[in-house]
Amino acid sequence: MRNIGKGFIGNILEIDLSNQKIQIKPIDLEEVKKYIGGKGYATKLLWDYMVTKNGQMDAFDTDNPLIFATGPLTGTSLPPSARACVVSVSPLTGIYDDSHVGGSFGPEMKYAGYDFIIIKGSLEKHGYIWINDDKIEIRNAIDLWGKDVYKTDELLKQKHQDRRIQVASIGPAGENLVKYADITFSLHHHAGRGGLGAVMGVKKLKAIVVKGSGYVGVDNSEKFEKLSRECANSIDNDSGLATLKKYGTARSISLSNNCYLFPTRNHQEANFEYADNLNGEMQEEKLWVQTKACFGCSIHCNHMGIIKDGPYKGTFFKGIEYEVSDLLGANCGVDDLNAVAYSSMLCDKLGLDALSTGSAIAWAIECYQKGMLDKKDVDNLDLKFGNYIDINKLIKKIAYREGLGDLLAEGVKRASKKIGQGSEDFAMHVKGLELPGWGIRSAPSMGLNYATTDRGGCHQRAYPISYDLGAKTPDGKVLDRFGPEGKAKVTKDQQDITAALYSLIACDFSTGTLGTNRLIKLLNSATGWDYDEKEFIKAGERIWNLSRAINIRNGMDKNDDTLPKRIFKDKVCVGPGVKKNLPKEYFLKMLNDYYKERGWDPKTGKPIQKKLNELGLNFCEI
Ligand code: SF4
Repeated sequence: MRNIGKGFIGNILEIDLSNQKIQIKPIDLEEVKKYIGGKGYATKLLWDYMVTKNGQMDAFDTDNPLIFATGPLTGTSLPPSARACVVSVSPLTGIYDDSHVGGSFGPEMKYAGYDFIIIKGSLEKHGYIWINDDKIEIRNAIDLWGKDVYKTDELLKQKHQDRRIQVASIGPAGENLVKYADITFSLHHHAGRGGLGAVMGVKKLKAIVVKGSGYVGVDNSEKFEKLSRECANSIDNDSGLATLKKYGTARSISLSNNCYLFPTRNHQEANFEYADNLNGEMQEEKLWVQTKACFGCSIHCNHMGIIKDGPYKGTFFKGIEYEVSDLLGANCGVDDLNAVAYSSMLCDKLGLDALSTGSAIAWAIECYQKGMLDKKDVDNLDLKFGNYIDINKLIKKIAYREGLGDLLAEGVKRASKKIGQGSEDFAMHVKGLELPGWGIRSAPSMGLNYATTDRGGCHQRAYPISYDLGAKTPDGKVLDRFGPEGKAKVTKDQQDITAALYSLIACDFSTGTLGTNRLIKLLNSATGWDYDEKEFIKAGERIWNLSRAINIRNGMDKNDDTLPKRIFKDKVCVGPGVKKNLPKEYFLKMLNDYYKERGWDPKTGKPIQKKLNELGLNFCEI
């Protein structure tokens, strides 16, 4: 099979499950260049493959393309080069979704010969895809259906008598079409947000198994290797990354809590009195037994743990990220570290996004407390904040869509519409995607980011909180923490640069240390391209506008660029003795400024044609 040796292998694998047609297509490198690769080019593929009469695509339409993407740096010798992403229409939000993942699946995909895999159609009987270099088969998965992701991974390794194969699979949640089911990669890594596991479920596709014997060649290997070695040195000498290695993302728990950014009891508070029970130091002391890394990464920010006492004693798990500590911990009022570890493991094993799961449960608890759900509605569970025994029962019910679990499996947007009675006001989502673990009444720019990201309420598209907290902006200004001024530009600029970095695909945790300019040099030496910083950021803006066009074409409008009512109405403590909401007029001012920064029509929220043309997106008619 061809290998063009330019960071890209040069091939797209397209599989139509309905007629079992398998095609290997060459990539058009000039076209890919406009979108860098990874998220960017997968977004263009999504636009092209949403071929319906009006361009609209329902997530559960079997023709909804599920695109597995790598970037030009994936699988190279750069220390963190593990990342891949999955792009499709989300069952949870009905709009664009890209969900990123580490582990080793992305590099293995390239070693097998493919930069992108596009899966269309659906199977008649449950199956899995086996990719062994250029041998590709669709195999029967009757014996795997119903199994959790740990068992599935093990059975596939036994079947293939090979422990080196890389598996991307779904658990019972994906099979049961839970709208926030995830896809598990390499056993412990999750394309978590937006429910793309349910897209596999609707296609009756249990897993994709990959093994490759190739390599990723680059255009200028001498230069690339020199830059890679410099990157490895920078990583080894970075004290910030040393704390990430020691505590994982849980290192941020106490800091976030002390800054009143840690959503608690369904965002009724922004500070959890027991947060220190869950923090990195406590996790290290009580739970962790080893560190783990994604492919080729020396940072080792993943931690494996064992629960050593209590009702969940002996449970082995991958331990607990910052976001999970908040959504299944503080936001559900749980202060018992072992219990949060167990809830996190349950979500992983059953194939559920832990963030949406925690948010849905917290919403249900509040509904029950307020009398909007009665004892029968909650399956006689003793549903209250902190009762982790019944919270863990509810996690299982969600994965199998039993009783209350069936309602919560739809996500808080749909569930609150069904229950009504004002429960929509505290359904904490944007465009259907449940909010992550960063409070926004203390950080309005993050609120603007949640309201405007391409996939709904997400913290991974920009992280402008540091500007709310007093860091100088790139043009040297210090912004008023709670005010609206200057927030639109920093948010927009970060979204653009992140879209470009997610197309390489670079790991979030390394980009600060490696620096954008060095990553651009790596991109150029891998591909032979000639990107400079301005063009790189413009590519990010192009990708952002294209995903916006997809969303508009799929029915989203300006009214969806908003935040849950609770954020505007209910005050929380944002500092000692200070309570605040985010005033709606501040939010609308930020949003209006944001549309102007973006060159979007403030009346409709659509990119104006001049902006689309300027970005080379003339083909977008929306
Ligand atoms: S920093 Fe952590 S998440 Fe990123 S590639 Fe390394 S081990 Fe994986």
